Amino acid sequence: MLTILRRIIQEVSQANNIEQALTIIVQRVKEAMQVDVCSAYLANEKRQCHILMASDGLNPKAIGHACLGFGEGLVSLVAERAEAVNLDNATDHPRFYYIPGTDEQEFHAFLGVPIIHHRKVLGVLVVQQRAQRRFEEDETAFLLTVAAQLAGAIAHAEVSGGISRLMTDVNDGVSLAGLPGSAGVGIGTGLVIYPPADLDAVPDRQVEDVEAEVDVFCEAVALAQTDIRELQARLSTALSQDDQALFDAYLQMLGSASMIDQVISRIRAGSWASGALRDTIKEHIQVFESMDDPYMRERSEDVRDLGRRLLSCLQKGRHKPPPYPEKTVLVGDEITATMLAEAPIDRLVGVISAKGSSSSHVAILSRALGIPAVVGVKDLPVSRLEGQSLIADGYNGRVYISPSANVLAEYKRLAAEETQMTAELASLRDEPAETPDGYRIPLYANTGLLSDITPSLLSGAEGIGLYRTEFPFMVRDRFPSEDEQYRIYRQVMDAFEPRPVVLRTLDVGGDKSLSYFPIKEDNPFLGWRGIRITLDHPELFLAQVRAMLRAGDGSDRLSILLPMISSIAELDEALGLIQQGYRELLEDGETVSKPRVGVMIEVPSLIYQIESVARRVDFVSVGSNDLTQYLLAVDRNNGNVAELYDSLSPAVILAIKQVIEGAAKYQCPVSVCGEMAGDPRAVVVLLALGVDSLSMSASSLLRVKWVIRQLDRARATQLLDAVLEMETAKEIRQFLGNALIEAGMGGLVRAGNK
Ligand code: PEP
Ligand code: MG
Repeated sequence: MLTILRRIIQEVSQANNIEQALTIIVQRVKEAMQVDVCSAYLANEKRQCHILMASDGLNPKAIGHACLGFGEGLVSLVAERAEAVNLDNATDHPRFYYIPGTDEQEFHAFLGVPIIHHRKVLGVLVVQQRAQRRFEEDETAFLLTVAAQLAGAIAHAEVSGGISRLMTDVNDGVSLAGLPGSAGVGIGTGLVIYPPADLDAVPDRQVEDVEAEVDVFCEAVALAQTDIRELQARLSTALSQDDQALFDAYLQMLGSASMIDQVISRIRAGSWASGALRDTIKEHIQVFESMDDPYMRERSEDVRDLGRRLLSCLQKGRHKPPPYPEKTVLVGDEITATMLAEAPIDRLVGVISAKGSSSSHVAILSRALGIPAVVGVKDLPVSRLEGQSLIADGYNGRVYISPSANVLAEYKRLAAEETQMTAELASLRDEPAETPDGYRIPLYANTGLLSDITPSLLSGAEGIGLYRTEFPFMVRDRFPSEDEQYRIYRQVMDAFEPRPVVLRTLDVGGDKSLSYFPIKEDNPFLGWRGIRITLDHPELFLAQVRAMLRAGDGSDRLSILLPMISSIAELDEALGLIQQGYRELLEDGETVSKPRVGVMIEVPSLIYQIESVARRVDFVSVGSNDLTQYLLAVDRNNGNVAELYDSLSPAVILAIKQVIEGAAKYQCPVSVCGEMAGDPRAVVVLLALGVDSLSMSASSLLRVKWVIRQLDRARATQLLDAVLEMETAKEIRQFLGNALIEAGMGGLVRAGNK
């Protein structure tokens, strides 16, 4: 069964559209289960019915036409119950409804299972048999497994098919749900960004000069042939004759007219070489994978490997994105911090990433740069989005592909309102962040990219509340030296003179990796990360601390912040090393002063030991991104669970309350520097809880200042009292959103300025 399932999945994932995917499924399932009929029905919300999309066994003329209204027939019963319905004689059942034209009445045994993707019933898979019989338990289990496994592929094919139809019918649009990554509305043209030598990630792209593209491909083939011959020669003594046969097979494939010609004819039909190669290789893989002989099936891996080799030859010196459109919406399966940093900021109007959540680093960086972003868009047909007209609604986490004229006009209006609101907010730049009833709360900026110091300065930040030092480490191919680091930190200190600056020690691991210091772990977020790495490498920690202290230049503006501390033992060790660095610099005759030292509260253990922490340090800063992740046990980057991730969860709010109360006993100030600090709804809560300062992306700063200047602390406290009675994040989010709308700040929680 597993082999059959694997083959079906493989074939379905290659399908170009939903019709093709479903046809494959019904044929293969009918064969495997040896039944008389297998059919797939899909729910159509617009027409409020289930449409027969594919069938092997029912009258072919009914396919695409026959439909059952919601609530009608056994198919709807399966969908309503969201579970299997197994009947020995379907026609006896009160819900049986004969769909004219299907010739269905001759079949008695009926087994229907729902196709469910992310809690939504997409349709129903049905098998039928002439004889009256109940389906066996293992048959039901098999069909349920097929439906569950294929639901994702079906959803994906549905969206992909939708996109293909858009090519011919531009009046319709497709919209997909994701998660808000960075507030704002981005309207522009898609540019797909993808990792090299990954066939699956190659986007569709058209070429004008097909003959030049054919030449490029032929050169790549010649290069691959040379590479393989060299490899073969190098290994000739080490490998047996049999093992060397693999290289001969590769060379044969490269010399074979069929595969090469197929690529060339796809290029001649207008595709660029990489796209033509991708489709051809996939086709060949499918042929091998559908073979019964296990040896032959394994050969599909060789085809895949050869495809990858050819692709990397094609990409040699060519793996650059095409010119960025004037209004670029960057699209990718997983957009990394460096991909974003490489893009020309003046052309970037939006970011759409299939993976990630609102606190993953692509979202954080987008916010830092003030670019609207939608992340965690499941079923995003990345490769089809190059050159498409796109809207990224960073408020609601929605993506519109080739939007209709109406949708486009509405979003253009909202974007214009936003621009106006942003311009109006600029007048708050030099105003204090003070509530109308006189409560002041300093607002600092989070930064980490040198290029975003300017926005931080322009936003009127009162200093840097979090400088993430990982980025200067990530953009190099080795650890930066103490002097290099000193120069970077010095630049930050100078740019913000005379304001305070909080430099955080290196927090790599988790989702932030260094190419030159790879860490392979099963659970990176629970593994070797942040302070755990730097304590294990005191030479790195000391070099960084020394660079920071020297950049502080004897002033009292420098604070050092420690990430990922999870125990007092770690804290004491880190404090000891900072003390050591300080002493050594004094001995070396440097002008340094003792820095203020703070701890990030982002691992839940510290909530319960907050008093021990507060006794030891000068301040604490709540890293709500990780605190939410660890408290709720929800990976901050995992799209499958992203809906469970919410910093406004009652547990997170109660944890911060406890931190503030515990720290207050030792007069230890509490700041919040996670993304929560830039969320206007959360600011209401944090203000009432009594945090001492907030640090956020520069692009959120004026919005947050607006909230503070509009809202009495007394009113915030009333709202907090109500929030503390609530039991779900959804309720809290909605309640606070409404409170902002009522206070005339609706523009902060939805597109537009109302
Ligand atoms: C946090 O975890 O809230 C935080 C500010 O740190 P980072 O997002 O860099 O992990
Ligand atoms: Mg963190």
